[in-house]
Amino acid sequence: YIDSPAQSRATILLMGLRRSGKSSICKVVFHNVRPLDTLYLESTTKPTTESFKSLIDLAVVELPGQLNLFEPSLYDSEKLFSSIGALVYVIDSQDEYLSALQNLAVIIKYAVSINPRIHIEVLIHKIDGLSEDFRLDTQRDIMQRVGDDLLDYGLEGVQISFYLTSIFDHSIYEAFSRIVQKLIYELPALENMLDLLMQYSNFDKVFLFDINSKIYVATDSSPVDIQTYEVCAEFIDVTIDLDGLYQISHKQKSNQIMASETSGSNTNMDLFSATEPTKCISKLQNGVTLYLHQMIRGLALVGVNRLEDGDDATSISVIDHNVAIFKKSLEKMWERSKLS
Ligand code: GDP
Repeated sequence: YIDSPAQSRATILLMGLRRSGKSSICKVVFHNVRPLDTLYLESTTKPTTESFKSLIDLAVVELPGQLNLFEPSLYDSEKLFSSIGALVYVIDSQDEYLSALQNLAVIIKYAVSINPRIHIEVLIHKIDGLSEDFRLDTQRDIMQRVGDDLLDYGLEGVQISFYLTSIFDHSIYEAFSRIVQKLIYELPALENMLDLLMQYSNFDKVFLFDINSKIYVATDSSPVDIQTYEVCAEFIDVTIDLDGLYQISHKQKSNQIMASETSGSNTNMDLFSATEPTKCISKLQNGVTLYLHQMIRGLALVGVNRLEDGDDATSISVIDHNVAIFKKSLEKMWERSKLS
């Protein structure tokens, strides 16, 4: 069970009608495919599984739309539902969604009967095509109808979370971040550690990112502002790109500092060898400093702060020191969750 540290694998099951956007979501979030390149994706016809490792192991199992849930030859649905942590159901908000809602109600009824602790997450997807006002109306309508359906089934106590998403902006990452975080047993401890780090290092905001997917598995307890998220997520890409460039041309000089002056920003980068984790600091012209430090298991800590002028060197060394302690604690936490 996800609630016990003994089971560090949490599976997310992604479901929804045909063409609702499931494959596109997987491609964009887990394979860095550009959103427009999903236009001509072949529709899903058989269950597929995406795995990615983070502080916990996650798998996204994607089921094609019209699959008969109770068709025993296709897969063992009872086993599947009893082993998953979250059910994510994708609804195409640009299409007529009444049949999707019927399908969803049947699935919820089944899922809850097998696994009462399952998290049920509904993505009201493709909202890029709806006007601002219409988005909220659609959300209200969908929530109302799902509530009514559950009432009909006698399932009014079931908790469901709704998210407005699109692959064309960061909303899909935000939704997945929140979904994944619910499956991380250590989350409260992690948030505590990040709060402490923030306090002692004068960060305005810190995220613990899964580098590959740009999902953040934890952040400090201050509210998330989507622009800060975007800047931090893009900073990961910039770091990876710079790192790639450097590795090809200057591989032999492992510890050299590279300074690149680009318009408006100035980047110092400690380049890494296999044993030396990537670190990247960038001071922008508006006074904001971005700080990235690679952690364990494909995670990176990304922080934002406003260092005082002339104080950069001391502040950065204080941050380095605190981040090193954070990383050690993270390693310990990971070891402990594996042991138990
Ligand atoms: P699946 O059958 O559920 O796997 O659906 P697909 O992933 O094949 O998506 C069906 C179509 O929806 C594709 O043409 C996608 O480009 C499109 N699509 C997916 N997500 C979005 C979105 O957020 N906004 C818009 N406008 N189109 C999307």
